[in-house]
Amino acid sequence: MEIQIPKDKMHLKSLIGGEWVNGEGAELIVTSPYHGLVIGSGKESSLGQIKTAVELANKAQVDWASKPIKERTRVMFEFRNILMRDIDKISHVKASESGKTFGEGKAGLLKGIEVLEFALSLQNLDMGGHLEVSRGVTCEYRRIPKGVVASITPFNFPAMVPMWTIPIALTLGNAYVWKPSEKTPLTANLIGAALVEAGLPKGLLTILNGGREIVEGIIDHKDVSAIGFVGSTKIASAVYTRATALGKRVLALGGAKNHIVLLPDASGEIAGPGISDSFTGCAGQRCMAASVLLAVGDCDSHILKIKERAESLELGKGMGAIITKAQVEFLRGAIADAEKAGAKIILDGRTASPPKGMEEGNWIGPTIIDHVKPGSDAAEVELFGPILSIIRCKDISTAMEIENNSAYGNACSVFTNNGGLAEKVVNMASAGMVGVNVGVPVPREPFSFGGINASKFGHGDITGQHSLDFWSDIKKVTKKWEKQSDNNWMS
Ligand code: NAD
Repeated sequence: MEIQIPKDKMHLKSLIGGEWVNGEGAELIVTSPYHGLVIGSGKESSLGQIKTAVELANKAQVDWASKPIKERTRVMFEFRNILMRDIDKISHVKASESGKTFGEGKAGLLKGIEVLEFALSLQNLDMGGHLEVSRGVTCEYRRIPKGVVASITPFNFPAMVPMWTIPIALTLGNAYVWKPSEKTPLTANLIGAALVEAGLPKGLLTILNGGREIVEGIIDHKDVSAIGFVGSTKIASAVYTRATALGKRVLALGGAKNHIVLLPDASGEIAGPGISDSFTGCAGQRCMAASVLLAVGDCDSHILKIKERAESLELGKGMGAIITKAQVEFLRGAIADAEKAGAKIILDGRTASPPKGMEEGNWIGPTIIDHVKPGSDAAEVELFGPILSIIRCKDISTAMEIENNSAYGNACSVFTNNGGLAEKVVNMASAGMVGVNVGVPVPREPFSFGGINASKFGHGDITGQHSLDFWSDIKKVTKKWEKQSDNNWMS
């Protein structure tokens, strides 16, 4: 389906204490990367509104946490039904504000719903533990919520990234404060509306709009106990430092520069589309996108297939737009710099034609830069656009040395038909998520999502089983109702 950009401007609100209210801060205008026109506006939230929201969230959380997990899960079931009912509407808005194609917008929401389905299973899976540790003495553990928790999310996945955390944090009994990206805040209003309609008690979901000031206000609030952050490495590191200094629990996911190791024996049918779709999907604006191709030996026929598929994409249909004009300029500059540094542009997205009638949008076509030198910006810097840098490598050891030297550690994939060599790359890769013949090695639930190195600050992963320990604490209870026969120093 083609994207339908909303004709009526959406009015952006904050959600505080279960009520949709106007922000009290600066004007916030949302434009579509497709045509540069305004599709929504409203006001940022204020520091005073953070105070009110957290106070109300705190009160609501006490009652929410006292409900059995089965009751909390019922709201999440209804939330899922509403998201499925409204999936096309939400996906159009999401794609319109982020630049994704409609298909990508829908796929991201469906991936988020997969996490929601994992949260629905918690009522049966996460039952705590109980054991008679000596005669008449039992120990048990109970999972207890953290209280009021917060999540700060990036522009590039306006629904999927928040859905990594909303269902799990709420199901575990927390109140949730969400600060979506100021570039893509409209989707948050729709997801919030779905949760309100699902019957989530007032105050449990807060949505605050704005940028740095609001993020810092949330972090600094004494009653916000845990903070999940997803965004660029620079901001992830700053958020992690500020929040941990205040004694908060923090998991901050950062940027990436992902490597694909291509071996000559790889299947042409799998490698061509797999690698091409990985660097062009979401116009390269995803933290799992392939950005460096480590071509080992003679991979020319594969590279030709990657190029042919990428150049067949029509802007606006097969590939979406770039979030801002400034980012388009940055990408153009990065391509020019690589050329100056001696690399060869074998597919040049700077010359691609914008879709008809959308010339004012933010466009650049798929770009492939060959013979990039290790250590250069095209090899090391996260560009966040549809650009694939190819580094020619004489053997796997050279390729893995380059991969291991990257500051980041989100994803690494190998394309080969040789199981032994695939295993070698899997073992050597310095990345949290590794794939074999998969261009975007995102684990499915309940396998958790998360990188290593400069792609993540904090411990654990943001989804799956590992995330339960982030959004909750474990209370250990030891009970004795009779005198023990073997009284000892621990009795
Ligand atoms: P960003 O870091 O600019 O913004 C992320 C969030 O931080 C937004 O909500 C923004 O309002 C807020 N923010 C911005 N400046 C801030 C400041 N100075 N202090 C506090 N908060 C601030 O990221 P983005 O451009 O929205 O998203 C793209 C980046 O996110 C890329 O680097 C991408 O790799 C990364 N990302 C990572 C993952 C992952 O799982 N590791 C997933 C998606 C995106």
